[in-house]
Amino acid sequence: MKTIQRSFLILPLILLFVACNQMSNKTQVSADDIKNYLSVIASDSLQGRKPFTVGEARTISYLSNEFKKIGLEPGNNGSYFQDVPMVEITSNVIGGIQISGKANFTLQPNTDFVAGTRQEVDSVELKNSPLVFAGYGIVAPEYNWNDYKDLNVKGKTVIVLVNDPGFKSGDATLFHGDTMTYYGRWTYKYEEAARQGAAGILIVHQTEPASYPWQVVSNSFTGAKLYLQQTDKHMSRCKVEGWITEDAAKKLLSSAGINGDMRTVARDKNFKAIPLNMNVSLTLHNNLKSSVSHNVVALLKGTKRPGEVVIYTAHWDHFGIGEPDSTGDSIYNGAVDNGSGTAALLSVAKAFVQSNNKPQRSILFLAVTGEEQGLLGSEYYATHPLFPLNKTVADLNMDALHDYGETKDLSITGKGQNDLDDYVEAVAKQMGKHTVGDPRPGAGSYYRSDHFNFAKVGVPALDLNIGTESTTHDAAWGKQQQDNYNANRYHRPADNLSAIASYDGMAEVANVMYTIGWKLANETTFPGWKNGSEFKAIRDKEMEK
Ligand SMILES: [Zn+2]
Repeated sequence: MKTIQRSFLILPLILLFVACNQMSNKTQVSADDIKNYLSVIASDSLQGRKPFTVGEARTISYLSNEFKKIGLEPGNNGSYFQDVPMVEITSNVIGGIQISGKANFTLQPNTDFVAGTRQEVDSVELKNSPLVFAGYGIVAPEYNWNDYKDLNVKGKTVIVLVNDPGFKSGDATLFHGDTMTYYGRWTYKYEEAARQGAAGILIVHQTEPASYPWQVVSNSFTGAKLYLQQTDKHMSRCKVEGWITEDAAKKLLSSAGINGDMRTVARDKNFKAIPLNMNVSLTLHNNLKSSVSHNVVALLKGTKRPGEVVIYTAHWDHFGIGEPDSTGDSIYNGAVDNGSGTAALLSVAKAFVQSNNKPQRSILFLAVTGEEQGLLGSEYYATHPLFPLNKTVADLNMDALHDYGETKDLSITGKGQNDLDDYVEAVAKQMGKHTVGDPRPGAGSYYRSDHFNFAKVGVPALDLNIGTESTTHDAAWGKQQQDNYNANRYHRPADNLSAIASYDGMAEVANVMYTIGWKLANETTFPGWKNGSEFKAIRDKEMEK
């Protein structure tokens, strides 16, 4: 009886083994490798892996040594490191925002607004800068939308809404309906206002379309902010970038006779920007500090087309050491965020090297810095790439891989953006799994990790995680684990190795990414963006070069 049972068990295992071998060239990423790497990456000795600290020095030294041990070449002209020059800016608001003109009042910092600057100068000032309500602040030719049409905002300060016109419009064909496009992200609003030459920009905070409360905005404006150093010292950016509360915005808009739901007003196809006949004055004093952090980069050279590259990314950085929590723990070990992805990156690299075959295209393993401070390391790479962008096949990103074991579903962040979804779909099918989109499409998750900086320069980028349908627990369980992580461990000292329940889900994601990487590395074609993606035009232009 026992033998029969055992052979019933063994047969499917053999079949699975054969199937896996066919898919991934004789090797697999092992959960044990991930566990072993993670036990170092998330240990207290790396001090929470904060850029510019002892923790950075130890982390990048560990990662480069491991890449070397695995047998990979240095990825940057003989070095495993890519310097990432950053500037730390602490902006102090002097007084508040003075409103003058049609109405006269003062807006208070933190209660009514937050403001900062990227301009690397000692102080910036808005002096009687005319206020304009510019709707959503979007210029999107593919959606036939231009909030800045016939508008000259030189020297002016624009007030714009967060998210895009599609969100909660009830019209799935307006932008992407409730799914946020990049035009909805606050980073885009700042960039577009700068392109238009505005002196200042204030984004109206509304909890639902922003997907987080005012507290999150105001917290993110306390203390120093890190940016990449720019040759123009960010002088092409607006002098002042900030947010105002919905109440403050209502006060400003109603003084100018705009009442009712501001989203409805701005969503109108015939909307035209509205001068508010009020001026804004504000002074910021800055403290500046320059520092250099590092991406870690390792290369597996392709046998047939070494000039073409598939890139794997994971951010190595986290928050370092902070205030002790209720248990007395003050080290932000970031075991899940993003020790998991970094350990998976090393494990995928190891599996590639240990395979009997060699990939035809090159594979670059890139552990980036400064994700937690605004995706800085990946932004630096994407704007200073080591391979031409039109030879860069794809970016495969792993960030905060869930630790509750295998699932029947695989979650594609921003599903529907590009052809890499189809690669996941095919592998998922072979594994008897299915794919799902991210759980909160309105929150714009696709724009919130390192893959996004590749998308921004046109490189098809994929961010993958396990889903919620556990293979071992009931339907509600996986979601509970995610909610529990978000409430109690995410960006807290409690994101510890000891809390990790299982490495199997991490290995599952790593193996799917590994299989996709092989396929991409041995193809001669380039995956593209789906029609309707805001990144398609950028890639198409790049590939013509
Ligand atoms: Zn994080």
